[in-house]
Amino acid sequence: MKEVILIKYGELTTKKDNRNFFIKTLKKNIFDKLSSFDFDIIDDYYRMFIIPKDDNINLIVDKLKDIFGIHAIVVAQYSSDASCENIKNICLNLMKNKCEKTFKVVTNRSDKSYPIPSMDMNNKVGTHILKNTHFKVDVHNPDIYLYIEIRKEGVYIYNENIDGSGGYPVGTLGRALLMLSGGIDSPVAGYLTIKRGVQLYYLYFESRPHTSIEARNKVIELARKLERYNSNGKLMIVNFTKIQETIYKNLDPSYLITIMRRMMYRIAEKVAIKNKCLAIVNGESVGQVASQTLSSILAVNNVTNYPILRPLCSFDKLDIIKISKEIDTYEISIQPYEDCCTVFVPKHPVINPNLKHIYNQESLYDFTDLIQEAVNNIEIVDLAIHKSDLL
Ligand code: ATP
Ligand code: MG
Repeated sequence: MKEVILIKYGELTTKKDNRNFFIKTLKKNIFDKLSSFDFDIIDDYYRMFIIPKDDNINLIVDKLKDIFGIHAIVVAQYSSDASCENIKNICLNLMKNKCEKTFKVVTNRSDKSYPIPSMDMNNKVGTHILKNTHFKVDVHNPDIYLYIEIRKEGVYIYNENIDGSGGYPVGTLGRALLMLSGGIDSPVAGYLTIKRGVQLYYLYFESRPHTSIEARNKVIELARKLERYNSNGKLMIVNFTKIQETIYKNLDPSYLITIMRRMMYRIAEKVAIKNKCLAIVNGESVGQVASQTLSSILAVNNVTNYPILRPLCSFDKLDIIKISKEIDTYEISIQPYEDCCTVFVPKHPVINPNLKHIYNQESLYDFTDLIQEAVNNIEIVDLAIHKSDLL
């Protein structure tokens, strides 16, 4: 007998046609994230079993908690001997030191050639536990369930599920480009998007020397934190200095943020297309700041037809902070380094920007070459080099 891990797939069940693709991707993601462990995987349409070769089951369970597409994780007792006597013994051993009062046995036979029907197995094991422990049966509301899964290769017996993170396996829903600033919101927006099965690339706009190397390092650190959930992300850094300085010198100061964000979207769209990203993601939340009123969003969004996902659009800041603490990005995000959006903040940013005025302003200077130059000179930071940091 040995301990193995059983994985339940969760939301995948709603995706009947794509199910095999989802399971295959989940399996690949598990192999990627657990690359420092030695184990085998057996999978089928309903379940996946991880059989560790060393004594590190708890470490593996901890890693699995961060992998999307897993609904529940179970540490099960496995034996290749599925005889009734052996099952009864394993069940008794599992139950005898527990302090709960009531139980229910649930048997599941995926091996239909197994000679004992599920109900009979429930009765035999139930009687054995009743006779040899303090437990009483409660079929409606038991304190503890005792699960027996009989399969071709043997039997798996377990009590409880550990919650997985849910969502879809990363990569099954394509790739998107996250506008990643050093703030609190965008890493959370990224995390929620990864959870939907979307692989992320990251795009950061910096304005050196107005922004510091510390601000850049903070973004790199945030991207690495997100890599714990993502799969093979790539961080791209745009040199935004010339564009920002040009806006600052030539255009209406109260429209600085609006026009700067329009430039960001224009660049993000080009980068997204080049990198086969199917959407752009950002951390905007309606009403949070002047640049996130509905009329500001309308004015900024108007430069692109590309899908812009705003997973936080209706979140309160406190709820965003709660998630950022859970995913361990909060402490990095609150380090006080200036971002390019904060260096050039005008005294009175416009709250309800006027599109006609924007068109007039943008016609005062031709940004085409500067935008193309920024796209051509993007710097790529390889996050994978530091994969060992994530272990
Ligand atoms: P956050 O929203 O992440 O806390 P922030 O408040 O500094 O950071 P905002 O000014 O609210 O950012 O910008 C809204 C969104 O625009 C961000 O969530 C992020 O997706 C994107 N964004 C802002 N600045 C940058 C930047 N320098 N690089 C990349 N994306 C950015
Ligand atoms: Mg914000």
